[in-house]
Amino acid sequence: MKKKYVISIVVILLIVIAVIFFWPPKFEFKQSQNIELEYGQKYQEPGFKVTKFGKDYTKKVKIKNKINKNKLGTYDIIYEVKINGITYKKTRKIKLVDNEKPIITLTGNENVTICPQVQYQEEGYKAIDNYDGDITNKVKITKKDNLITYSVKDTSNNETKITRTITSEDKSLPTITLKGSTNQTIYLGNTWKEPGYTAYDNCDNDITNNVVSSGVVNSNKLGSYKITYTVKDLSGNQTTIIRTVKVISKPSNPSSQTPSNQKGTIYLTFDDGPKEGTTNVILDILKEEGVSATFFVTNSGPDYLIKREHDEGHTVGLHTASHNYQTVYKSVDSYYNDLKQVQDRVKRITGIESKIIRFPGGSSNTVSKKYSKGIMTTLTKDVVNKGYRYYDWNISSGDAGETTSSSGVYNNVIRSLSKNKVNMILMHDIKPYTRDALRNIIRYGKNNGYTFAKITMSTPMVTHHVNN
Ligand code: ZN
Repeated sequence: MKKKYVISIVVILLIVIAVIFFWPPKFEFKQSQNIELEYGQKYQEPGFKVTKFGKDYTKKVKIKNKINKNKLGTYDIIYEVKINGITYKKTRKIKLVDNEKPIITLTGNENVTICPQVQYQEEGYKAIDNYDGDITNKVKITKKDNLITYSVKDTSNNETKITRTITSEDKSLPTITLKGSTNQTIYLGNTWKEPGYTAYDNCDNDITNNVVSSGVVNSNKLGSYKITYTVKDLSGNQTTIIRTVKVISKPSNPSSQTPSNQKGTIYLTFDDGPKEGTTNVILDILKEEGVSATFFVTNSGPDYLIKREHDEGHTVGLHTASHNYQTVYKSVDSYYNDLKQVQDRVKRITGIESKIIRFPGGSSNTVSKKYSKGIMTTLTKDVVNKGYRYYDWNISSGDAGETTSSSGVYNNVIRSLSKNKVNMILMHDIKPYTRDALRNIIRYGKNNGYTFAKITMSTPMVTHHVNN
């Protein structure tokens, strides 16, 4: 009886031991056991714990990661632990998913304005998905009224929709371009001819034929006349511009005949200044001799000498700002641009907008051919039409090149003087030998019955033959 009892206890103990031995460990997963992972994100073990009857086996666990991060799907993470020679396994399911929408990018603006009556031309678009890559060819386009919708779905059914708004309207004004100057001058009695114009609209293109011009120039009456040009585009945008035509009296002596009161008159003209050291001495001599002269100035030299020229009663004419033939004679516009610069300088210093000019190299120059063919033919007419008076010369002192002594300058001048003509003498106030010859030239003139004068707007133009 006692033996039986002992056996029973032993058996029970053995069973208990066996149960304890084979009892499986307890796996505890942090977060849930199965996890959804967004494509592109890195899997990070959320943590776990393995225990058996309070004893921690976590550190003995081996993890096998079967995730293919490049492909959507469901993958296993296997946790293995060996306790007392027995291997226990648990599996975590990882579902790799794509919840990210594709991105559509439009070429051009999302708000487009086009001309009325014009069909919108698709400017292009691109669709990129984080998982599928370029899915531009899956984009569906639908049009409704003025709205274009672009939609696309990726393989995970994520959808993106964007829109482009098309507005049909023309709010831009047309432009009118006048041929010739907007401020024109003609002489009394001459007929004014419309130089022409063009009109252009951003939507309607060339609309020159729709221009309406109004206004009359009475060329037999002095005054300022306005011609108005108006044009409307198809959307009703209207542009108006005005041209002014001034009818002025004829210059006092446009003919080449020298009036008797001009005969024997000497015009001393000085180009290329002012210059410190020569112009100031020339001004002193003119003052002492009581003689007026004309200075065709440039943008070089100090301002105060131009001020002196003006204050002491001489004429300040315009020569050139740069005296660079290549710049001056590049084009008609370029000529006027250069002229304006020197005109502005003189106006700033003297307060007078001088219209008395001398072309660099004279109107007969041939150097301009190199830069612009026929420019002198154009300019010599155009400057007069604009109200300028230009003066060449009929006596050269030679101080621009061939002569470099004051006796040379003196002799060149006095042997060309004549009582039967206007004596328009070309000199350069930047040359020391001209400065040194001046007093003797003036004395010779006075002793031989010549009179001295400065150029004014009523002095007859002395002009060369134009060679270009
Ligand atoms: Zn010059």
